[in-house]
Amino acid sequence: MAQGARRALDERLDQRGEKALKKRDVQKFQKLLLAQREQVLGHSKRPLSEEIQVDPDDFPDEIDIASSEVNLQFAGRLREREQGLLAKINTALEKIERGEYGACISCGEEIGVKRLKARPVAELCIDCKSEQEKLERRTG
Ligand SMILES: [Zn+2]
Repeated sequence: MAQGARRALDERLDQRGEKALKKRDVQKFQKLLLAQREQVLGHSKRPLSEEIQVDPDDFPDEIDIASSEVNLQFAGRLREREQGLLAKINTALEKIERGEYGACISCGEEIGVKRLKARPVAELCIDCKSEQEKLERRTG
């Protein structure tokens, strides 16, 4: 990026109370994301049955079987959310390696350190995100 364009971008970000992402910041986010991935993976390594301990013999009557099914469904949903988060973490880490981390996937502008600190896997800048949410409220 040309020096002048870079300065203009910094000024725009300053107006939003955001700072452009520095190389040092990217390294920090990389560490954060790697730690977050470890956390998710560490949790997912255990088999599903170990987490909730469902043994049909322990639940002889129907009510208990029903509640154990609910538990299973709940654990499944949790697992889905973990998988979703894991995919986002991996995408963010790939972007760091390609040097694309911190850029909004919609408008291409920098997402900003403040927003990334709150949500390191963020792919949209705050402007595009609120646009998307407005759209979702309209359609959903
Ligand atoms: Zn954007």
